[in-house]
Amino acid sequence: MDFDFSNDQRALRDLVRKFVEREMPKDAVAKWDKENELPIELLDKMAEIGLMAATLPEEYGGTNGGVVEETIILEEVARHSSTVALAYGLDVCFGAVTLERFGNDEQKAEFLPKLASGELHFALSLTEPGGGTDILGAMKTVAKEDGDDYVINGTKVYTTGLNIASWIFVVARTSRDAEKPSRGLTVFLVHKDTPGISFSKIEKLGSRFLHSYEVVYQDVRVPKSSIVGEVERGWGAILDTLNNERIFVAATCLGLAQGAFEDAVQYSKERVAFDRPIGQFQALQHMLADRMTEIEMARLVTYKAAWMQDSGQDCSLPATMAKLSASETAFRMTDTGMRILAGYGFTMEYHMQRYYRDIRQLIFAPVTNEMSRNFIAQVGCGLPKSY
Ligand SMILES: Cc1cc2nc3c(=O)[nH]c(=O)nc-3n(C[C@H](O)[C@H](O)[C@H](O)COP(=O)(O)OP(=O)(O)OC[C@H]3O[C@@H](n4cnc5c(N)ncnc54)[C@H](O)[C@@H]3O)c2cc1C
Repeated sequence: MDFDFSNDQRALRDLVRKFVEREMPKDAVAKWDKENELPIELLDKMAEIGLMAATLPEEYGGTNGGVVEETIILEEVARHSSTVALAYGLDVCFGAVTLERFGNDEQKAEFLPKLASGELHFALSLTEPGGGTDILGAMKTVAKEDGDDYVINGTKVYTTGLNIASWIFVVARTSRDAEKPSRGLTVFLVHKDTPGISFSKIEKLGSRFLHSYEVVYQDVRVPKSSIVGEVERGWGAILDTLNNERIFVAATCLGLAQGAFEDAVQYSKERVAFDRPIGQFQALQHMLADRMTEIEMARLVTYKAAWMQDSGQDCSLPATMAKLSASETAFRMTDTGMRILAGYGFTMEYHMQRYYRDIRQLIFAPVTNEMSRNFIAQVGCGLPKSY
């Protein structure tokens, strides 16, 4: 076994770490958070140093990296901002993975080089108002064939990143099989400006500068050429993307946990009580030692899942474990951070409250941790399906 990064992977991590220090210092992130605005130039700069292309094949302007490289980038970026990591992930996960694996040759040639150069950004419209966990039961959005086109009608919620994206992957029902609800789904790649699309911003507790929207699709006419993958077989395409999404979210949580951990350790060295730094108190030392151990454990399963997906193995179980453990670890880390910073942690002056707010969504999105446990119990433990 070899737990080491290759020289290229180490160089990539160093490149991203320097980029993050230079282009997205924590004070700048705090300003974007306060003003609710992500400077789009940041993503342009990420593209300039090759990050948008990191997982794409050379023929599309990429550098032939894989899921491990994606994980390295996300972890480093999320040390300062999980929100920027999510914005990046929308492109490399939803955009690159879906198109590379399921797009046809024309779609790959049209979209992937522009994704690599940072010219295009993507969003995913899957969840509906009726619920995200039972998405197959809740999905009401339909697409009806009409000549050379499909006409989409329905409402989606939490479609994220539309403030920067120009293209949306829309998942809709093209038929309904009561016996097998996973059949009959089709994925369409739709331009945000297509007539019939309207959206309204949802105010949120965290990730405030990557906006989420309710999107209404009313008689949205799209050509058949906008279908990604096979008609009626959209669930297969989405599942493959969703495994990658679990790893991408796990990596984001890891970075967030690491950032909060570093802040908490630093503070515990500087803050003095009873004539000594508070980090000298064993109560705090044990909390930090536990968190550091948990972060390392979550990191191991996350990179294992990434390596498995890169090597073409079924990574659904470790990807789900990675999402579950990294998000719960980061959640506990931000709670520990809030305890250690105490009063200052509660002020907007310090970054801990941002970490604390931002982690909340990653406990239930893109998949809830209850549903993750259901999956692990069923697939990993071989227990009967509980729902
Ligand atoms: C900020 C944000 C960004 C998002 N971005 C996107 C996006 O870009 N695109 C997109 O399509 N969606 C997005 N989502 C949606 C997200 O994926 C859903 O919120 C998530 O899937 C959970 O769905 P829900 O919120 O409807 O919860 P529900 O499905 O209503 O679940 C409510 C509760 O019931 C529990 N529950 C339900 N069924 C079971 C069961 N069988 N066993 C045990 N517990 C169960 C859940 O675990 C949860 O605790 C986003 C959400 C947020 C808040």
